[in-house]
Amino acid sequence: MTFVCSNIGVNAENHLTFAGQDTLRLAEEYGTPLYLMDEDRIRHNCRLYLDAFRNTFREGSLPHYAAKAAAFKTVCRVVAEEGMGIDVCSPGEIATAVAAGVDMSRVMFPSNGKSDGDIRYAMDKGIGAFVIDNVEELLAIEAEAEKRGVTQNALLRLTPGIDPHTYAAVDTGKVDSKFGVAIETGQAEDFIRLALKQKHIRLLGYHCHVGSQVFGEDVFERAAAVMLDYIAEMEKKTGYLAEVLDLGGGYGVPYVAEDPSIDIPAKIASVGKVVKERCAALGIREPKVMMEPGRSIVADAGMTLYRVLAVKRITGYKSYVTIDGGMTDDPRYALYGSRYTVLAAGKMGERADFRTTLAGRCCESGDLIQENILLPDSVCRGDVIAVCTTGAYNYSMASNYNRFGRPPVVMLRGGKSYVAVRRETAEDLLRLDV
Ligand SMILES: *Cc1c(COP(=O)(O)O)cnc(C)c1O
Repeated sequence: MTFVCSNIGVNAENHLTFAGQDTLRLAEEYGTPLYLMDEDRIRHNCRLYLDAFRNTFREGSLPHYAAKAAAFKTVCRVVAEEGMGIDVCSPGEIATAVAAGVDMSRVMFPSNGKSDGDIRYAMDKGIGAFVIDNVEELLAIEAEAEKRGVTQNALLRLTPGIDPHTYAAVDTGKVDSKFGVAIETGQAEDFIRLALKQKHIRLLGYHCHVGSQVFGEDVFERAAAVMLDYIAEMEKKTGYLAEVLDLGGGYGVPYVAEDPSIDIPAKIASVGKVVKERCAALGIREPKVMMEPGRSIVADAGMTLYRVLAVKRITGYKSYVTIDGGMTDDPRYALYGSRYTVLAAGKMGERADFRTTLAGRCCESGDLIQENILLPDSVCRGDVIAVCTTGAYNYSMASNYNRFGRPPVVMLRGGKSYVAVRRETAEDLLRLDV
C-alpha cells in the first residue's frame, strides 16, 4: 500500500503505523483524541529548504518557519535547531519562541494588525524585524523606536497583484487583499517613500505572500519577477535598493492521493533561476531571499488519532461515524472544505467500502472532519480512526468550543515518543474563570 506521505505504513498486524510506530499502541498509551508529530519529518522538511537555499540564493538568505502553522515550544526549538528563522504573528507566538530559546534576531513579525502593546512586546523581546503591513503600523513602530532611541529593522509588506488560484480565504497576494499595500495602485510607492523618511526604521526590503496551499506552476517565479522589477523601479525613483526580498510561504502539500506533490528543492532552484536572470537583466544586485513556509514544514509530520463513539446509519439516507474530537481540534473542513485521507488504524487489512461521513461531537451540524470517505464496513465504537496530514493548522487553530479540552501533542522521534504539549484538562479550562 502506498500512502499520502512516506512516513505512513502498515505493520504485520495490519495496524497503521506513523513514523514507524504502531498507532493503536500510541492511542492506547496517550489516549484520544491525540495529535502525533513526526519530529524526524519536520527536520527533514527544514533541511529541504535550508539545503536548497544554500545552493540557490545569495549569502544571508534564510527560510523562516511560519509558526502559525503549529506553534508550541518543541516545534520552535526543532526548527531553530535545524537553522531556520521563525515568523511569528502575535505576542503569544513571540512568547513561545522566547520560551523555546530561539535567537530572536532570526525572528520576524508579520501580521496585518499590531497594537502598540504588540509592538512594545516584540521590541522588548528583541524581534529581528517587523514586517510592516500598513501606514499606521509604520508610524507606530517609528514612534516606539524613537522613544527607545533605537533603530528597528523592518520589511514592508506589498501586494504584487498575483492570484494563486487557491481557496479565496487563503489568497493573500491580490490587489484587493486585506494584507499589505498594493503596488498596482501606486500606494506601495507612497508607503516606501514614507518608510524611508523615518529616522528610526532601517528598511531591509520588501515582503509579499501570495497565498497558501499553492500548487500553481510558476506562482513564486511570477511573484519574484514582479517584486524584482519593482525593486529596480523603486531604486530608479528613490535611490533605495532593497537588500531583502521575502517571498512569503505557501507551497502546497498533498492531503489525498489525487493531490499533486511539490518538489521543494526543484521549485526553489527554479525561483533562484528567475532571481538570477531577472537581476542580471535589471542590472541590480541580487537581494537576500527569504521564504516563510509553514504548511510544507509541518503538515505531513502530523496525524490525528480519534476513537469512534458511534456509527449512525440513517436508513435510506446517509451515515455518520462520530468520533471523540471534531472541529475543536481540526476546524479545517468546516472552514475551507479541506480534503483529508481518513483510515481505520486497526483494520488496515479490511476492504474499505463503507461510504460515510466523519463527524465530530460538537453541537454544530457543520462539525464534520470529512465527507464521502471509505471505511471498513465493520467500523464500530472503540475503533481508532486516523486523519492524515494534520500537522499544519490543526493544533494551532484548535478551540475550546463546547469546553472540550485540546488534545496533547506527542512527538515521534527515532522510534520513541514523548509529550510536547500535554492534554488540556477541565482544571486548565477553569483556570481563567473568576
Ligand atoms: C500564513 C503565512 C505563511 C505560511 O503559509 P503556508 O501556506 O503555511 O506555507 C507565511 N507567511 C505569511 C505572511 C503568512 O501569512
